[in-house]
Amino acid sequence: MKATHNGNCQVCGRLQATTCYRGIAKHGYTVQEWGYNGVCRGSDHAPVQTSTALLDETVQALGLEANRLRSLTADTLPGVMMSRRDPKGSVWNKLPPLKTFVRNEAEFEAWKAEVGPSVCGWRWETTRDSELRRLSHVGESMLQHVLFLTTLRKQCHGQPLPPRTQQ
Ligand SMILES: [Zn+2]
Repeated sequence: MKATHNGNCQVCGRLQATTCYRGIAKHGYTVQEWGYNGVCRGSDHAPVQTSTALLDETVQALGLEANRLRSLTADTLPGVMMSRRDPKGSVWNKLPPLKTFVRNEAEFEAWKAEVGPSVCGWRWETTRDSELRRLSHVGESMLQHVLFLTTLRKQCHGQPLPPRTQQ
């Protein structure tokens, strides 16, 4: 059945084609820095206009994760994923980067020894602190989305579905 209305997704908030039978049309949701990639969880669910169960759940989960990320310290950070070029690769044969999870200074120094002189000036404290800053920014961007969804809930819940414009 062709969708005749639009509705706002409870997870990403975007306006999507909606039918009362199947809910929001399947759509993708990618936020690289959160590690979100693929089909949006809001697909096939009712839009914000008619339901907020999934929105409330999303807001709660994102809020918890944002607080966890923003409260990480040098002592509680599990580690940093280090990435380097695969030496077996070449310009003609590109290989995916080699990834190593480094938990402390000793493991960081071992990783440096393996990589070689190109990283000899790198310091664990600097690497760890920039990871903490990065995760804190990820948390901030999650809180921005929480704010966006909370506002959307106020503006759209209980409102009639906007008609779908002809394309
Ligand atoms: Zn969505």
